[in-house]
Amino acid sequence: MALREIVTEGYESLSKICKPVTSFDSRLELLVKDMKDTLVKADGLGLAAPQIGVLKRLAIIIDGETDEMVALINPEITAMSGVQNKTEGCLSVPGVWGKTERPAVVTVKAQNEKGEWFEMTRDGITAVCICHELDHLDGILFREHVVEYIEDRD
Ligand SMILES: [Zn+2]
Repeated sequence: MALREIVTEGYESLSKICKPVTSFDSRLELLVKDMKDTLVKADGLGLAAPQIGVLKRLAIIIDGETDEMVALINPEITAMSGVQNKTEGCLSVPGVWGKTERPAVVTVKAQNEKGEWFEMTRDGITAVCICHELDHLDGILFREHVVEYIEDRD
């Protein structure tokens, strides 16, 4: 198990636009594994590569439907509908929580570790998580979607 350091707000990689993943090789497999280990250890719902200082279009999410971790490589949102407000935080913005506005349902198209394309449609917190992690790949933090900061989170 190899844990990577999660960088926090102000670190350069969090404001960059990440580059597509082009090699689906053993190095990528190792990176995905490290990110999964790091996400479990940090007890988060998702982790994007720039959060560990890697400028690649790759994120790991925990799929609320299966409780499994899913690697989203070169992901794109292909459909979204509705609006929902959820309380959101970020492993790179520790101690800050806010009510955000996000789509209620999103469909994301991505590649897996082998380079195979797949699509998934999710609602609820998993939809929020998908949007949140994809934003990281474009240098956007959840603060941009906060409608109200929450002082004390239960
Ligand atoms: Zn985040």
